[in-house]
Amino acid sequence: MTYRYPTLVLAVFVFATAALAQKPEPRSALEIGTDAAPEWVAAIDGLRTADGTPRALYRQDYAVDAAAPETMARQYLTEQAEMLNLNADALELRHVRSSRAGHTARFTQTVDGVPVHGAEVVVNIDPQHRVQLVLSDYQPSLSVPRSAPSMTADAARAIAHDHLDVSGRLLDDETRLTIYPTEDGGRLAWRVFVTPDAPFGNWESFVDAETGDLLRVARRTVFHHGLHEDTPKTPARSIVEVSAQRVDATGMIFDPDPLTRSGADYGDPGYTDGGDANTPEMEAARSEYTFDVTFEDDVYKLEGEYADIDDWAGPFKGEFEQTEAEWLFTRDEDAFEAATVYWHIDNYMRYINETLEIEVRPYQYATGVRFDPHGFNGADNSSYGAGRLQFGEGGVDDAEDADVVIHELGHGLHDWLTVGGLSNGDGLSEGLGDYFAVSYARSLGLLAPRDPEYNWVFKWDGHNQFWPGRVTNYPGTYPAGPPPHTRGQHWSTALMRVYDDLGRERTDIAVIEGIAMTSSSTTQPVAAQAVIQAAVNMDYTDEEIAVMVEEFNAKGYNVTPPVANEDAAPDASFSLTAAYPNPFSTDRPASLTLRVDEAQQVRVVLYDVLGRQVRVLHDGAVAAGQDQRITVDAGSLPSGAYVVRAEGETASATRSLLLVR
Ligand SMILES: [Zn+2]
Repeated sequence: MTYRYPTLVLAVFVFATAALAQKPEPRSALEIGTDAAPEWVAAIDGLRTADGTPRALYRQDYAVDAAAPETMARQYLTEQAEMLNLNADALELRHVRSSRAGHTARFTQTVDGVPVHGAEVVVNIDPQHRVQLVLSDYQPSLSVPRSAPSMTADAARAIAHDHLDVSGRLLDDETRLTIYPTEDGGRLAWRVFVTPDAPFGNWESFVDAETGDLLRVARRTVFHHGLHEDTPKTPARSIVEVSAQRVDATGMIFDPDPLTRSGADYGDPGYTDGGDANTPEMEAARSEYTFDVTFEDDVYKLEGEYADIDDWAGPFKGEFEQTEAEWLFTRDEDAFEAATVYWHIDNYMRYINETLEIEVRPYQYATGVRFDPHGFNGADNSSYGAGRLQFGEGGVDDAEDADVVIHELGHGLHDWLTVGGLSNGDGLSEGLGDYFAVSYARSLGLLAPRDPEYNWVFKWDGHNQFWPGRVTNYPGTYPAGPPPHTRGQHWSTALMRVYDDLGRERTDIAVIEGIAMTSSSTTQPVAAQAVIQAAVNMDYTDEEIAVMVEEFNAKGYNVTPPVANEDAAPDASFSLTAAYPNPFSTDRPASLTLRVDEAQQVRVVLYDVLGRQVRVLHDGAVAAGQDQRITVDAGSLPSGAYVVRAEGETASATRSLLLVR
């Protein structure tokens, strides 16, 4: 039977996420704290040690019956509920994404129908209907005293807004009931989300629904809405009727920036910011391109399928509509930055959606990506939050550097691919944005590996007197360096090393599909595993996957060796069954069955995730046509991922398994 699955959004929550821009910003007095990396970040296998609840399971190779994605995921969650330490009935589906890397189903834990903040379970199923990557932030020991609020949403909203002292317009203004996990079990709380003119940012507050206490106020945001039974399961992105006309226009922009384009260094005559001044050199460094814009009401607008200018943040400079189909400006004119941002967002979204054929769009609204080329109240910073991009004008105008534009768009892609799961506790999202920026700029072929700029991020906006920028040849291993921006460089560095071997499109596809399997608590090592899983699911070659494993392990991520390709096509004359049970435990040893058509000597060895030999399971003759049982006892082995490899005279086979204590 063949099923057709919706490829975009089954939909259901609207989430909003804010990521601070490329430069660290002074922390507001109101900001209680940013989300720290989970405690299990250092665990090789992603297991939480405190209660034994698995948080990240790799290479499950768990076959389920072919069915709709939710059904397949639920089969696994129900059958493995004990191992996962969860109640599958308490999970509500909120999103399914289907792509060439399989299906990724996202569930949210609920208590009496109220969603638990941050408690998401993500299940990836490969195209052969095998559950592979599983991420869980399920909270097994919640005890919530009440499930009905004694305080109204309006009263809670007033408490949060008073605390923040909000003023001006409210771009986002949402109040939803949620369960807020606490050390003593959890509280029923109102989640108040607001994007006011002041204070600056997208603010998330939790107000105890019984006492009115403020449990948390933070500018960095993950979940936005709760799921309710009556939420219509319709796509978040409805079809927009286009009454206006899409037409071609001509524009001049920096691509990727004036220094890279002309081969100049910052500070060469004519190549300084000079307070946004135009120079002959700056004029010559522009590129002329064709733009896809909208003609409506007798004017041309920077509005299209993939990008949409929106003057939502101060300073308010308008949307730069033109009476001719031309945006021929110089950098001292504000319309120049508008055109530059528009073209890069349109070009990159078109590349992902049309060239790579990976569908990704904002879930927060139905237009192209909304951006304000002159925002951030004029400061030297840029940001992504609640689906919108804004670019500040301090120092070099951020909107004049494609690295900044694509970095911020990268946060958006991260948010949209994960439907609200933008994880940045250890700089994952910062590193991802830097990777997209450098992957994009390097594809122009203007820099050679010997150039220092080859590895620079923000080649025009940074690496000058305003701020030092970042690099993609960052030394050392994860998790060295403060999060998020500095530590994020491990991730961008690892990915650009893979890019050097695999090329732009192969790397971009694996990265995008891998990130789409992650959740709001995902760290760099888990994301590395997800990227490898995506590549395995898409039948990348052993050589390509070996490059990923090598580069990720060079950064200290300790990824589990990939074996699914061998599992997918076992040699009929030499077969090793999958381990069962898997995961295994002290009480339940795993067993595998080896079968050979020709009698031969076979050595079966257990390896750990670092490839170290742990134990010899069998070493000797195996008779033809007979089942040779291989047993793996937990013994004193630590929890984690292991690999069983059988080496015979005619062939070999590999199987992964997981030990849970
Ligand atoms: Zn950023």
